[in-house]
Amino acid sequence: MIKEKCPICGGNLNDVLLTITKPDRFEIAVGIKEEGYKRQWIRCAGCGVAIDVHDAKNLELVEKLASAYYAVDFKNSSI
Ligand SMILES: [Zn+2]
Repeated sequence: MIKEKCPICGGNLNDVLLTITKPDRFEIAVGIKEEGYKRQWIRCAGCGVAIDVHDAKNLELVEKLASAYYAVDFKNSSI
């Protein structure tokens, strides 16, 4: 799963800080299943920033959520 480079400095992401094995409510809302789910926060060896790394297929679904964010939390009501 760790094959990405740091988007800030290009360093290696090699220090797993946290592994999450259950999707959150936003991920569930876009159809991500709990079975086989994995997401990790990984620290960059170069600059120390922590990056949230998703499986590619899940990331694609999460990115679609951006436009539907309020639909998940506010059931389509406006703020
Ligand atoms: Zn970095």
